[in-house]
Order: sequence, then structure tokens, then C-alpha cells
Amino acid sequence: RNLSGNQIREEFLRFFEEKGHRRVHSSSLVPANDPTLLFTNAGMNQFKDVFLGAETRDYSRAASSQKCVRAGGKHNDLENVGFTRRHHTFFEMLGNFSFGDYFKRDAIKYAWELLTSEDWFGIDKSKLYVTIFEGDAAVPRDNEAEQFWLEAGVPKDRIYELGAKDNFWAMGDTGPCGPCSEIYYDLGLAASETGEDKPFGEDDQRYMEIWNLVFMQFDRSSDGVLTPLPKPSIDTGMGLERVACVLQGKLSNYESDLFTPLLAAAVKLTNFAQSSELREASIEQLAVSDEKGAASLRIIADHARASTFLISDGVLPANEGRGYVLRKILRRGIRHGRLLGQEKPFMHEMVLAVRDEMGEAYPELKDSAERVAKVVLAEEQQFARTLELGLRQMNEETLRSGSQAFHLYETFGMPLDFMVDAARDAGIEFDMAGFEAAKEEEQQRARASWKGGSQKSASPVYRELAKTEFEGYTSLRVDGAKVI
Ligand code: ATP
Ligand code: MG
Ligand code: MG
Ligand code: MG
Repeated sequence: RNLSGNQIREEFLRFFEEKGHRRVHSSSLVPANDPTLLFTNAGMNQFKDVFLGAETRDYSRAASSQKCVRAGGKHNDLENVGFTRRHHTFFEMLGNFSFGDYFKRDAIKYAWELLTSEDWFGIDKSKLYVTIFEGDAAVPRDNEAEQFWLEAGVPKDRIYELGAKDNFWAMGDTGPCGPCSEIYYDLGLAASETGEDKPFGEDDQRYMEIWNLVFMQFDRSSDGVLTPLPKPSIDTGMGLERVACVLQGKLSNYESDLFTPLLAAAVKLTNFAQSSELREASIEQLAVSDEKGAASLRIIADHARASTFLISDGVLPANEGRGYVLRKILRRGIRHGRLLGQEKPFMHEMVLAVRDEMGEAYPELKDSAERVAKVVLAEEQQFARTLELGLRQMNEETLRSGSQAFHLYETFGMPLDFMVDAARDAGIEFDMAGFEAAKEEEQQRARASWKGGSQKSASPVYRELAKTEFEGYTSLRVDGAKVI
């Protein structure tokens, strides 16, 4: 069935309500009381303590559509965005949860019914594949899951085994964990990277993971021992944008109706030269003639969503921690606007486009959008000043000399890509080797001075993510690598 993104979200929640689940609103992108987590990155985050038994609720089944950001920490998709058809920094994860209530058999039955029943999503069964955990020294092969998939009507040759990396899920080094089982959709030969007709497992572009069912079965202690949980539980996650892509018969999430209005807004607000082309065609068609332009548009649309929701949830651009990741996302979006020729502030207007598309599902956006737009505009203006200062210093000589280019990068926060592009435009060969050497030298210095320093953040995980320092004007580094 061809359903809009909004309908899919609603039908998912309604389906699980009919199966006795409580509809629970998304929690904030800023995790409450969890310094180990940069941003909310899965639907189960808000139920973490319920799974652990440290908290009880007046329901044992829940369903949600959770705002997630994967741009740092354990799950980091920032670099993928723009270049894969299925990754976003911000996305919505649809999930159903059982807290010691139903387990594998029903989780599998429900998932299969929702996806394939004509009354619900009505996906062609012949396009679906499932995976189960193949087993390892500690946990046996998941024969149960296999059995239940067969019972649900999945043919044996559509069930594949995968190892722990894909099919054993753990919340962290300790705590609840268990095997998982994933559902994949075959987008067909047209989605293939190589154009060759390859089987499942050999073509990541063609076979897209849509849903992960986690069977929380064990509690892992710090010495690695797995103790069976008294009440095995269920945690699932399905990307709304991916299901929209499938149900709307597209090859890319960005072609679904969750993104097309935002891409159109990006075209308009950047005055992208090929706007008339994109009005008639889709982003994938544009990508054939102008892959770079298409990637920039996808990045702007994606980063506008992420920035809008992050600021709405209380994050502000800053030079460390969460605010730093937000700043990185925002500036990357702004930079891609510049690559499309837009030098004036435009991202703040993207915020309003995001509100118009998503304000129904996330009413908090309606209240916050004006404030969010102001924050974004201020960041756009500040970044423009940074660039201006840097641009004034930039000339042929600085571009020819890696160490001088590094100085601009270090002192003015001049992005490396800008300088490389400018050099290319001017027909100059950018001195990358010299730049790298200067950077390496600087890193040695920074490392030497860092050693004695005290580290403020409480948790080691968070410290890893947030290893940022303020240097010069707006030049920032994370783990010794310059990011803007
Ligand atoms: P992938 O292997 O495609 O990166 P994943 O295995 O990391 O996905 P899970 O952690 O299992 O993803 O999350 C559950 C579901 O959330 C996935 O099956 C997918 O539908 C969706 N999802 C995960 N990451 C993203 C993302 N960056 N953008 C959009 N949807 C995502
Ligand atoms: Mg991933
Ligand atoms: Mg995966
Ligand atoms: Mg997965």
C-alpha cells in the first residue's frame, strides 16, 4: 500500500495499540539522566531502566515513534549522510516494546503481520529477507527465531544467519542484551551498486535493512558472564524513512514524501541553478547528471531536520559536547548551501519548512520553531563572519603554502574544503602535504600539553565524544582532528 510518511507513523502506532500496547510519545533527543549517551539514538533509550528492572510502569507493552540522532558516539552516521540513500543524522524510529510480557514468537508474528497483511502495509512477501543470530561460544544459534519465522510463513531459503556484529545486540558492555533478528527489503536490481544481479548478503545497496527485532534475554555482567533475565523482553526499531521509501516504491529515503518538500525548499532557498530541473525530476534523477549537487541538497535537507529538532530540544551551538556536534551539523549544512551558490543565510528558513512538514507529529516544533530559527540565523551570521575573516587572509600565496593554509585553518577556522575548492578554482595546486605536516606538528604539541590536563566530563564514554577544545577564533578540534 502506498502510504504517506505521516500515515505510516500513525498506522504503526495504531497496529500496536490494537495489540494492547500503550502509545508513548517520543522522548527528548537529549537523554534524561544518561551521561553515557550523546543523543537519543534508539527507541529503547527512554525505557532503559524498565528493561533493567530499576523502574516499573503501569503498562507492559509500549509503542513509540522516537526522534533519534546518530551523529557521534557508538552510532555515527554523519559521514554517510548525503552519500547513502538510507542514512540520516536525524530519523524517526518506530518501535514496539515488551517489558517481560510477550517474547520472540509474538514479536515475530506482529512484525510479519504489520509488514505483509493487506490490511496494513501489504508489502510483497517475495521482496523480504530475514536474518537470525548464527551463534557463538556463549550463545547458541537462534533456532527459536528461525522456527517462529518459518511458522509465520517465511520460506527457509529467505532466512540467513549473521554473526554477533549484526545480530547480537547489547546496550553497552554490561546490562541487558540478546540475539536479534532483522528484516530486509529487496529494492531490486535498479538499486544495485554494480548493476549485477547479486544475492542477499552481497549487495548492501540493493537489500535494505528495515527493522531490527531485539530479543533481550540476558544480563551481561562486567566479567562478561551472561545470566538469563528473569523476564525476557522485546525491543524493536524500524526506520520510518526506510519504510516510507519501500511503501512509496522509491529507491531512496530522500525520494519519499518525508523529504521531497524539504528538498524543494532547499532548492528554492539556495537558488540552486537546476531548480527547474528538480521540480520536474526526482533527487535520484538529478543525481545522474549532478551527483554533487544532489548530495548537497540531501545534506541540507537532512541537517535542517537534525538542527531543528536538536535546538528545539534545548541544544545550542557550542564548542564542546552536544552543542559542538550541533554546530558541526549546522555548519556542514551551511557550507553545502555555499557549494550550491548561496552565500546568504538560508538555513533558518529551512527550520520553518521542517516545522510545516513535521509539526503535526511533533507539536513541540510549532511552539519552538521561531526561537529555533533565530538560533540558526545567529549561527549563520557568526559562521559568515568567520569565513569573511579567513577569506580576507586567503590568497594565492596562502593556498600554495600548506603551512600558511594551516594557519588560516587554525586561527580563523577556515574550512579545509573551502581552501581546496578555492585553489582548484584559481588553478593552483593546493599544498596538501605541507598542510598535513603542519597539522601533525600542531597535534604533537597539543598532545604534549593535553597529557597533564584534567578531564572534566564525568563518563569516559562522554569524554570520548566530547574531546573538544576551543582554539583561536572558531577553530575546533575533536580528538586532534580539525572538523570545521
Ligand atoms: P544500518 O545497518 O543500515 O546502518 P543499523 O543496523 O545501524 O542500520 P539499528 O541500530 O538496528 O540500525 O536501528 C534500527 C533501525 O533503525 C534500522 O533497521 C533502520 O531501519 C533504522 N536506522 C538506523 N540507522 C538509521 C539512520 N542513520 N537513518 C535512518 N534510519 C536508520
Ligand atoms: Mg548503522
Ligand atoms: Mg545493520
Ligand atoms: Mg540493525
